[in-house]
Amino acid sequence: MFVPNTVIFEKGSLDYALGSQIYDRFKKESNVKIIEASSNRVGPLIPGENMYEKYRAGKKILVVGVKKSLRFESCKPSAHYQLPLVSGCMGQCEYCYLNTQLGDKPFVRVHVNIDEILSQAEKYMQERKPDITLFEGAATSDPIPVEPYTHTLKNVIEYFGNTELGRFRFVTKYNDIDSLLEAKHNGHTTVRFSLNTEKVIKDYEHFTSSVKTRIEAAARLADKDYNIGFIIAPVLLYAGWRDDYRRLLENLKEMMPQNKAITIHFEIISHRFTAKAKNTILQIFPETTLPMNEEERKFKYGQFGYGKYVYTKEDLSEMKSFFEVELDRLFENKIIQYII
Ligand code: SF4
Repeated sequence: MFVPNTVIFEKGSLDYALGSQIYDRFKKESNVKIIEASSNRVGPLIPGENMYEKYRAGKKILVVGVKKSLRFESCKPSAHYQLPLVSGCMGQCEYCYLNTQLGDKPFVRVHVNIDEILSQAEKYMQERKPDITLFEGAATSDPIPVEPYTHTLKNVIEYFGNTELGRFRFVTKYNDIDSLLEAKHNGHTTVRFSLNTEKVIKDYEHFTSSVKTRIEAAARLADKDYNIGFIIAPVLLYAGWRDDYRRLLENLKEMMPQNKAITIHFEIISHRFTAKAKNTILQIFPETTLPMNEEERKFKYGQFGYGKYVYTKEDLSEMKSFFEVELDRLFENKIIQYII
């Protein structure tokens, strides 16, 4: 669970019930500084002279705000729209895509006008009917660590549970899922957990939940009939990777409920980086040992107009066969969405 040292309430946020609820929750905490901002410009309130300092200070700040623009970003190809509930994350993973996207806005921002956001979701569903519309709740965040304060995910899950044509999904590296256990999801929400080997977590993730508690959380949600998926990413091909990823999959198999025929979705993504990401990561984590040597990688033009450095064709094909064989061996009911 996220424990901020500062909570900033943007202008207008206390006019909403959720904003006041969060305010009442934190005003009792003597070690949390509360700022009622007179505008929505939070950047100047983050202490620090440079990106390194601002990143570390910002990661301890919770911003409570109102989502002004209700034009949802597209989330192709994996979902139709991003659902803007939360942005940012308390974690400090060295490889995180948010480092590049939100480098200068490292704080966690929760939106309090959830009813307005859901009314907008309803409009998008109407536009696409009779087709299903899928909303992604974690495109720019990990929404779970703030759930104990907001219960937003629970409300959103129940909202989509009541719609005929709306589906919801999000991904997390955390285990604060208690409020979701009793939510009436009606099979319309998929919760995905992002996993990695003990070595990758120890070397490159900071302030995330352990892999064991993530899998335990997944098992508890599977018991409540949620659709469950696992994203194994980024796969890093270090000495001994096969043994470590095999052990991860074996533990996963063992810890998931054995008494139910659950279909597990898998997404496997190899490590890749862009020149921009490398530059940002080196500013925030100057001592990083993340493998980002361009000469050992293949340069590939991406669909969004910038290139990225991926593993070589031979490495990728070896990784692909490894995961195909191991997933087939261990999981009878599964859908492998992609191994890339
Ligand atoms: Fe990024 Fe996920 Fe790590 Fe948060 S937990 S810093 S969103 S990779």
